[in-house]
Amino acid sequence: MAKRKGKSRRRVKDWSRRHRQEDLTSLDAAESETLQPDRVKLPAFRLQRGPGESELADRPRAEGMVTGLFPGGARVRLGEEDLLCSLAGTFRPPPGSTALAVGDRATVALTPPQHTSGDKEIDKDRADGVILSRQPRQTALSRPQPTSSKRRGRHDEDLAEKVIAANMEILLIVTSMRQPPIRPGLIDRFCIVAERGEMRPIVAINKIDLGEPDEGLIAELAANDVAVFCCSALQRRGLEELLAALRHRSSVLAGASGVGKSSLINVLVPGANVPTKTIRMKDKRGRHATAAAKLYELPGGGILVDTPGVRELAVEMDQRELPWYFPEMAALAGECKFNNCTHTHEPDCAVRRAAEAGRIPPRRYQSYLRIRETL
Ligand code: GDP
Ligand code: ZN
Repeated sequence: MAKRKGKSRRRVKDWSRRHRQEDLTSLDAAESETLQPDRVKLPAFRLQRGPGESELADRPRAEGMVTGLFPGGARVRLGEEDLLCSLAGTFRPPPGSTALAVGDRATVALTPPQHTSGDKEIDKDRADGVILSRQPRQTALSRPQPTSSKRRGRHDEDLAEKVIAANMEILLIVTSMRQPPIRPGLIDRFCIVAERGEMRPIVAINKIDLGEPDEGLIAELAANDVAVFCCSALQRRGLEELLAALRHRSSVLAGASGVGKSSLINVLVPGANVPTKTIRMKDKRGRHATAAAKLYELPGGGILVDTPGVRELAVEMDQRELPWYFPEMAALAGECKFNNCTHTHEPDCAVRRAAEAGRIPPRRYQSYLRIRETL
């Protein structure tokens, strides 16, 4: 079992590596990409526009983590401090993706203290630092750009991703037992998003005070290496175990609206005070929420990022890639009659046979078919 999983993981990585290589060779669009504002209001005069490397050569440098974005710049955390930074005129992020995202590691040229008169007013007019470059990303939580599909070619579609959070180790997928009812298909999708972005998926099933979690589903997820934690933010149950899994790591939250993400943050992070919703309307889905990405420090170490952009992430990829994210199916694909079998209608399909016989969980097979239809 473990061996099979390892193999399929590696194949997934090969796929993504190949995609990335394509990215490097077929680009031009992203040169002009602008930063995604997160609606943080900042006085424009704080942003001195684009000094070049040479002007900044004698300034001290430091590497920090991007914790927020605004037009023309970003907030960068250095140690305990959050600096408001503008962008160097020479800042050229690798093309093909969002220029800067929460979680990115950026090198900043620090603005020296104003030594002439000690006039505080002058300091207010300057950025605290200038972003020179960003490090390559270890992981990326991304979503395809909704505007991309029609007019672009296949290559361009691959590139049209928006990175919502970078370098997060864990994608914390939050669901609820009831209100709203648990959606195993959505969990499958989020697990794919996690694996594509090279993050580890962890599932938190919240609101267990409203119903017992389905052991079958937990076993299915566990069989694919996904850890599941059952909890109740309301009754403060199961939180220690969840916290232990997140401690000293960086995690980003995902999950449908109303499952209790904000409530979980509030019970995990003392003093977070995230507003929770008591009434929700259909057209008020999180995707359109205006709040910025927020970064929380977990007690005992670790960070938790909550961004409104991940409430309902779409999966976008080549249909042929999908089976690799279903390791229980990928393992059987070699036994199908056709080596390009899609496991949907072909005769002598080992995957279909296994699903019918229950050797592959029928729910997983259905989930595969449903996701495939959307691609
Ligand atoms: P979010 O949209 O995912 O951030 O969800 P919220 O945290 O705003 O929670 C949505 C609703 O679910 C609120 O009314 C919460 O009080 C409620 N809720 C959150 N956690 C629990 C829980 O563990 N049990 C129950 N019964 N309700 C909860
Ligand atoms: Zn097949």
